[in-house]
Amino acid sequence: MIRMGAAFCVMAGSVMADAPNEAPRPEPRPDLTVTAPSQATEAPDDSEPVEVTIGQRDLLVLPADGYAACLADLDRLGVVYTQTDPIIPDDDRDCGIVQPVTVTEIVAGVAVTPAAVLRCPTAVAFATWTTDFVLPAVQRLDDRGALTVIENGSGYICRRRNGDGSGKLSEHAFGNAVDIMGFQFDEGPRIAVQPREAEGSMAEAFQDAVRAAACLEFSTVLGPGSNAAHDDHLHLDIVARSSGYRLCEQGGGDPD
Ligand SMILES: [Zn+2]
Repeated sequence: MIRMGAAFCVMAGSVMADAPNEAPRPEPRPDLTVTAPSQATEAPDDSEPVEVTIGQRDLLVLPADGYAACLADLDRLGVVYTQTDPIIPDDDRDCGIVQPVTVTEIVAGVAVTPAAVLRCPTAVAFATWTTDFVLPAVQRLDDRGALTVIENGSGYICRRRNGDGSGKLSEHAFGNAVDIMGFQFDEGPRIAVQPREAEGSMAEAFQDAVRAAACLEFSTVLGPGSNAAHDDHLHLDIVARSSGYRLCEQGGGDPD
């Protein structure tokens, strides 16, 4: 926008400078008709930073080129999704997603059930984790066949951490988080996320492997052993913390 504004000033200046020397010259007129609307559209944008009601959902809006790049990443990763209407609750300035995507397949052939409503960067992290770590781990489970479903416990929802009515908003409230309840396969039994410490099974090895790898893509990974609220799912989110801190503890840590 700054460049557009500067371009307008330069062009307007050149028009004014040219006018006395070459009076009957029609060519500058198209410049004026093109630049005038762009200047008009800048006015509302410039006023937005002083808006006092801006909430977290607005702070997380991607610029147009960044959002387009994010959607291109989803396409590249084979995610099946739709861009859905902005989620803007009237009664909460923080909750919501201005640029939501509804994901039905996280990679080709792997459904997300039920569909997950997320911010685009969350969906990219989810798809990258699935491609780079979950699918290779599934290949070690030679008695179950291909991964067909990743069970979604919660994508977007406007709620407080652990359902506490007065606590800090969950990252789910901004579309930054997804809960994974389990994995389904085309030949063998599903693997539910559950306490598996010292179980001695391939299901335990799989759960531990994908959970540990998740912290390479997500900045928060919680699950069984973190606290009672996470005994039946993996909570994965992309919250940005100062200094890039990542919360990847197998047990303990902040509740969400
Ligand atoms: Zn969660």
